[in-house]
Amino acid sequence: MVYFDHAATTPMLPEAVAAMTRELGHVGNASSLHASGRRARRVVEESREAVASAFGARPSEVVFTASGTEADNLAVKGLFWSRRAADPRRRRVVVSAIEHHALLEPVLWLAAHEDAEVVELGVDSLGRVDPAELEAVLDEDPQGVALVSVMWANNEIGTVQPVSALAAITSAHDIPFHTDAVQAAGQLPIDFAGVGATALTLSGHKFGGPPAVGVLLLSREASPVPVLHGGGQEREVRSGTLDVPGVAAMAAAAAAVAADLPERQRHLAQVRDDVVARVPEVAPDAVLNGDPLLEPEHRLPANAHYSFPGCEGDDLLMLLDAQGIECSTGSACSAGVAQPSHVLLALGADTDVARSSLRFSVGLTSTKSDVDALVEALPAALLRAREARGRARS
Ligand code: PLP
Repeated sequence: MVYFDHAATTPMLPEAVAAMTRELGHVGNASSLHASGRRARRVVEESREAVASAFGARPSEVVFTASGTEADNLAVKGLFWSRRAADPRRRRVVVSAIEHHALLEPVLWLAAHEDAEVVELGVDSLGRVDPAELEAVLDEDPQGVALVSVMWANNEIGTVQPVSALAAITSAHDIPFHTDAVQAAGQLPIDFAGVGATALTLSGHKFGGPPAVGVLLLSREASPVPVLHGGGQEREVRSGTLDVPGVAAMAAAAAAVAADLPERQRHLAQVRDDVVARVPEVAPDAVLNGDPLLEPEHRLPANAHYSFPGCEGDDLLMLLDAQGIECSTGSACSAGVAQPSHVLLALGADTDVARSSLRFSVGLTSTKSDVDALVEALPAALLRAREARGRARS
């Protein structure tokens, strides 16, 4: 089996498995006052410190959630509600056109139910937001903007955004800036204080922690209206009993990744660069989407994303899967019909090109022999996918 879908989820690191296994053997609600509760609280607070130190934040800025999706929802809805409550003119939510659905859907929900106005920042053909466009949008109506949210790096094509520049422009207008750094964590250095964001989303299962544990790094000045109401945990912005084993495991992964990020980054880039060098040898018409500059300032080191003209991405995915190679398409299924990815459409790709794409995302467990298997399997899969498409069209 060759697993090239690490951007969807990546295996838990041994450090995370050890921390989770240790904690699963203990009882204790971190809000309880007795000894077991205090022990659980200690684990949570030590985990908070580890996460803060791995991502350049203060411990008091770490808000644990149950997923990256939940952290995105809290940032977008919570900041929108609190900003608009302070000034009803603040209806605008400014986002890039290529955000993940975990961010886009809450924004669209705000537009449908809370009278928000969505302002989309376009991207160029490589997927980059232009800071000058953000500047122009904010200058046009600074009083009308509730928040700005632009992802650190894109989950499909791997393009890295100029987040520091975007955060600086936004904060010069005294507007909160959120960034979804779910894909960047574990691949790029993340310094919450350095980047100057108000809020930043992380998800454990993308960097070697467990699934269903997320974090919103949240500046002390920000007080989003909670999405979940209850016991008032996590600075009263995220109620709910904490998952102590999950939190401990995510913190262990965060610490492990931060301890030798350059080495991990080098491994990811080496395997990915091998994919990028060898796929064109067996598929000369394949088009690499996203930034052709492969350095981590431009493109996530684990990401290779291709369009294969004349193929349906879904057909290709299943044909490769039959040969033991797992990857993903960016298309979402709607009413049983594969829809082209909104990310590729935003880059200016036509529908056919957008539907013909596949993402290969490598991980720490990926090897050169995985790439050998991919380039061996690809020609036959491409041939059959093209035949299938020809038959479907005739
Ligand atoms: N944001 C981005 C960029 C993602 O890639 C993902 C997951 O694919 C999410 C948010 C959602 O994270 P989670 O799976 O923890 O809900």
